[in-house]
Amino acid sequence: MLQRRHADAAGHGAGIRDGNGVMFISHRGDVQPSGFLPVSAGNVRTDDVVSMYRDSPLFRRLRRPDLFTGRCGRCEFHSYCGGSRARAYAASGDPFAEDPLCPYEPRRGLQRA
Ligand code: SF4
Repeated sequence: MLQRRHADAAGHGAGIRDGNGVMFISHRGDVQPSGFLPVSAGNVRTDDVVSMYRDSPLFRRLRRPDLFTGRCGRCEFHSYCGGSRARAYAASGDPFAEDPLCPYEPRRGLQRA
């Protein structure tokens, strides 16, 4: 039971970041994971906002830190942190890459299923 509560907390509080608990709508109606991450899942003039948040490939993947690459992908804290997706995008052009300003080096690689 403790483990279940632990997972809920990570999914609904501590891990809030671009596209995970946050969405941004630009003045043009473009739906982005945050104001600092200029990639769009669609536009409110033509697409349903709730569907974009829940089902677009962009938002779905942003809620899967286990699919991030680099240090953030293998970091044991990525469910709580996940790094800045906007900084990752600004530095590499890839919103799923590692956060370049984080000084932490994960102690061990997470095992992928
Ligand atoms: S590597 Fe740094 S930024 Fe990335 S998830 Fe771990 S602590 Fe967060």
